[in-house]
Amino acid sequence: MRRRVIAGNWKMFKVLSETRAFFSAFLPMVANAKHCDIVIAPPFTAISAAVQSAKGSNVAISGQDVFWEEEGAFTGEISAPMLADAGCRFVIIGHSERRQFFGETDESVAKKTKTALAAGLTPVVCVGETLAQRETGQTKSVLQKQFLSAPGSLTPEEFSRILLAYEPVWAIGTGKTATPETAADAHRVLRQCAAQRFSAAHASALRILYGGSVKPDNIKGLMAQEELDGALVGGASLDPKWFAAIVNTK
Ligand code: PEP
Repeated sequence: MRRRVIAGNWKMFKVLSETRAFFSAFLPMVANAKHCDIVIAPPFTAISAAVQSAKGSNVAISGQDVFWEEEGAFTGEISAPMLADAGCRFVIIGHSERRQFFGETDESVAKKTKTALAAGLTPVVCVGETLAQRETGQTKSVLQKQFLSAPGSLTPEEFSRILLAYEPVWAIGTGKTATPETAADAHRVLRQCAAQRFSAAHASALRILYGGSVKPDNIKGLMAQEELDGALVGGASLDPKWFAAIVNTK
C-alpha cells in the first residue's frame, strides 16, 4: 500500500499574515488526518512563517522551486541547502508554470532533482502534456520523454526517494479536471516507465500524485483510482476549509 500524499501549491499567493491565519484555521481541521502525508508549498518569503506555524503538527513544508547549484553568484535563486535549512522537507520541481514561463527544461529538472536529493529534500517532480499534445495523440510519448530525461536519469536509490506529480497542463488552474480514468491511464504510463527503467519494485513503490483543478467535490472520485496516490492542489489549497476537506476525504 502506498501512503497518500496531499500537497498544496500556493504559487504566488499569501503574505506573512495570511500564512499565519491559514495555519491557525487549517491545523485543527486536519489534526486527526492519519491516512495521508500533508504538504504545503508557500512562496519563499512565507516559508519560515509556515515552518514556525506548522511546528509539531502533521504538516510538512515544501519549496515551489530550487536552483541546481548549492551556492554561488546566482542572483535571485534559492538553493536546496537553503530550503532544507529553512525547514522544508519537500520541493516541487518542473511545475508546468516554470516550464511555460521561466524556461524550465527536462535537463534543468534533472539537475534540480539531484541537488534537492543531495540536500535531503523529497522532490515532487512534475510532468504532464499540453492540450495540443493530448489532442495530437502525443500524451504517452511526452510523458515517456519527460520521465526518461529527468526521473529516469537518477540512480535507483535516488529514484526511490522522489514523488512524481502527473499534471496535465490543460487541467491546471482551468477548472478542467482530468477524469479519474484519464488520470489513471497517464499514471499507468509513468509507472510502466519506472518498471522499465528501474524495476517492478520501484514502480510499485512510486507515489504518483495527480494535479489539475482538484477540488473538494472531485477528490473522492480521483482517489478511488488505485493508480492515484494523492493530489497536488493549486487554487483549492489557498482556502483552509477547502484544503482540509480535500485532506479529510478518504
Ligand atoms: C498546481 O498548481 O499544481 C495545480 C494543479 O493548480 P490547480 O489545482 O489550481 O489546477
